[in-house]
Amino acid sequence: MTAKVIDGKAFAAEVRAQVARHVTRLKQENGLTPGLAVVLVGEDPASEVYVRNKGKQTVECGMTSFEHKLEADTSEGDLLDLIARLNADSAVHGILVQLPLPGHLNSDLVINSIDPAKDVDGFHISNVGLLGTGQKSMVPCTPLGCLMMLRDHHGSLSGLNAVVVGRSNIVGKPMAQLLLGDSCTVTIAHSRTKDLAEVCRRADILVAAVGRAEMIPGDWVKPGATVIDVGINRVERDGKTRLLGDVAYDGAAAVAGAITPVPGGVGPMTIACLLANTLTACCRANGLPEPE
Ligand code: NDP
Repeated sequence: MTAKVIDGKAFAAEVRAQVARHVTRLKQENGLTPGLAVVLVGEDPASEVYVRNKGKQTVECGMTSFEHKLEADTSEGDLLDLIARLNADSAVHGILVQLPLPGHLNSDLVINSIDPAKDVDGFHISNVGLLGTGQKSMVPCTPLGCLMMLRDHHGSLSGLNAVVVGRSNIVGKPMAQLLLGDSCTVTIAHSRTKDLAEVCRRADILVAAVGRAEMIPGDWVKPGATVIDVGINRVERDGKTRLLGDVAYDGAAAVAGAITPVPGGVGPMTIACLLANTLTACCRANGLPEPE
């Protein structure tokens, strides 16, 4: 069997086009322009690339992008002051603080200082609680993008065995909550899981969010399973830097029913969901119906 390749790049382009159509309508009918503020502290090269892409795609969708680049030694007080100003700014509907933050800053404190209604990353403790109790929340972008691809491929996910490898707050845990919300039987695996291979082989849906290049080989994949590879690992090979997922792609694609490639799978969907969340935040802030 050769797996169907789930084209995250094409799917993300559709999502962005839909967001752009809604933004045009919001401007025409309500005189509103959604605004996304992205805060970057320090000079992490990967983060700079992400922030640049986010800003570019925000503008391409017709929204306003506010970029705040702060020095690596910015104090916690100055960062919290900036967030307070963004919270109070009615032109800003979404606030994203790019992680990881430099070590002297308390990420939990900083994230929890964002107005939950503007927390388009869905990391604020209120949004985590709302998601965990099945209430309307801001849903973290990467797991949301994964869920959209899974729903698109499967239709209903009800009763499927889902295994999420990785238990981070930004990917693994919210992914598991979303799958549970769609009535999957969910297992969360991590570095202490015993016999990970056997656990993975039970998965109808296997989500890999580990951060170790090609850690999951093809023979851990159940024949016909859907594999969502969240991992983005930069690896030097043959003198070139390559982006590899957490799943050994060729081996997995030979047995899976469907698989997301790296790059071109989960990555583009993450930014598209960020834009969709910003649009949602703008609609909610103005008492308007949310886009489908
Ligand atoms: P973290 O480092 O925060 O979490 C990694 C998780 O993997 C941990 O729960 C860890 O377990 C688990 N893990 C580590 N080693 C093993 C192992 N040998 N066996 C089983 N589990 C293991 O990473 P993130 O969740 O932030 O990111 C995961 C990957 O996804 C990274 O490659 C990252 O770059 C990528 N990513 C991609 C995004 C996208 O848009 N496509 C967005 C966000 C992340 P434990 O808790 O026990 O330590």
